[in-house]
Parts: sequence; structure tokens; C-alpha cells
Amino acid sequence: MPELPEVEIIVNDLRCELIGRKIQDVQTDWPKYFQLPKSEAAFRTCVIGRVITGVDRRAKNVLIRLEGGHLLLVHQKISGRLIVGNWERTKRLIGSTGSTHSLWQPVTSAASTHQPAGRFIHLVFELDDGRQLALSDLRKFAKVLCGPRDAILNLDEIRRLGPEPLDPRFTFSDFKRLFEGRTGRIKPLLMNPNFIAGIGNIYSDEILYAARIHPLGRVDQLAEPRLRSLYRSMKAVLRKAIRLRGTGIEGSRGSPAGYDKVRMVYHQKLCPKGHVVHRIRASGRSAHFCPVEQKLYRHAST
Ligand SMILES: [Zn+2]
Repeated sequence: MPELPEVEIIVNDLRCELIGRKIQDVQTDWPKYFQLPKSEAAFRTCVIGRVITGVDRRAKNVLIRLEGGHLLLVHQKISGRLIVGNWERTKRLIGSTGSTHSLWQPVTSAASTHQPAGRFIHLVFELDDGRQLALSDLRKFAKVLCGPRDAILNLDEIRRLGPEPLDPRFTFSDFKRLFEGRTGRIKPLLMNPNFIAGIGNIYSDEILYAARIHPLGRVDQLAEPRLRSLYRSMKAVLRKAIRLRGTGIEGSRGSPAGYDKVRMVYHQKLCPKGHVVHRIRASGRSAHFCPVEQKLYRHAST
């Protein structure tokens, strides 16, 4: 699943392409994407005819601002990718059932550069310059919402999100305060979007290595110097990942995911210092760490 850096990269790319464009039509072969409003007809009314005035990110959500104070929210989930290009819709018969499904094919050479990400398009916003904003989504787990800005931002799932780690106003004292009264292990806490936004399995491993903290370290035993190191590492790793165009996905302009070349422990055999990386389970997820540099502290129970 894309994490904060990958979504930030997509948002930055989309911002260049989309601001000032008007949405002229919406097409989908998977109306279940629409979570708010749930009916396809109401969703169309919400977006069609509106000019895109901005593109932002909150946690892993892409927020597309529309004129009239509306907001189009897309959570790409596991396999969704928002891309801009040029496709045309064709119908295909599937198997013996005789049912049809849509297939969007690239129509210009420019769009074909997006082809690896464009094979699974299930939702298309037609733009007024002849191009489309498309959601390519193999697994079809993405979700799409539209409504007045305040109504969207006041949804429980958005309101409860923790702070943005790269927000310049998010200081070390804010970060430290988040830990008050918290217990448990550090890795699952970092991955909890209501604790801090946008960090998933990959970057929690990378951040904890950079801070030399064991993924199973107890959060109530993290002394201030360790918290400081964690705060700094979190910002540094996420910024670096954005600069290198993320991990394991292609950006919408087809640039390679450069962070894959510098990963320190996540799915690595050796850490940068040549120690063998260990892989353990932490709250149902895998955690990769260097057992030499990331020690559990004395009072930990495991
Ligand atoms: Zn090491």
C-alpha cells in the first residue's frame, strides 16, 4: 500500500496537471467506489461541471478541491493509482457468462508511457482539455467520496487522523506529547494513523532503523533522547523517500521508485553496516530490523 511519500508524490504530480481543469464527465465500471454519495447519479452531480482548484494530501488520502467549496477525496488503498492521460473505453465480453466489462485503452503515445499503471482502469474523470484523470486499481479496494469540504473533513475517519509528520508546525514537543499515556510497542503505534498520519509497514521499519530503536520497544520506556532521534529520523526518512520518488510504485510520470535502492532494512538481507537483518512479527505485521544496532532496552519484557 502506498504510504505518505508515495501519496505525496502523486499529489504533487497531479497538482501540476489538474489545477484549472473542469471535470466534464465520470465513467466507471465499478460503482462500489462511491462511498459518499453512494449513488452513482448523486456522485456525478457532485463533481461534474466543477473546476479543480487544488490538490492536497491528508494522511494517505488525496484531496482534490473543487470550486464551490467541494472536495473530492480518493483513498487509493492497496493498488489504486491516480494517473492523468488519454484513454478510450471499449467493452469486452468475459468468458461464458456473457457479461461485459470495460477496458480503457491508451489513445496517444504520451498516454502509453503510463501504461504499466494504466492496465486496470476502473474509474475515469473526463477533463475539459481532452485528457482524463483515471484510477488504475487492480484490487478495486480504493474509495472515492465527494461533498462539501467541511462535511468531508469532519468525517470520523478524517477527523481522528493523527498529525502530519512533515507539517512544519508539528514540533518535537507536539510529537512528545503524543506519547503521553501511551503503552505498547513502538512499531504498531507508528503505523496507527490516528497516532500519526501516513506511516505504514515500510517506513516504520526504515524510521526505526534510522533512530536505532527496536520495533518491539515499549513506548512508555522511550527516553527523551530516543524520542528526539525518532522525531528527526521520521522527518528525514519520509523527506528522503519523497525526494527519491518513493518505494515500489511508479510515479504518475513513470519515474522509478528510487527509495528502493537505498532501503536500509525493509526486505533487505543486510543493514547498511553489513549486519544480518532479522524479520519478526509485530502485531500481525512483519518488522525488519538490525539486531545489532536496534537493541531492546533492559526493562522490556521480551
Ligand atoms: Zn546493523
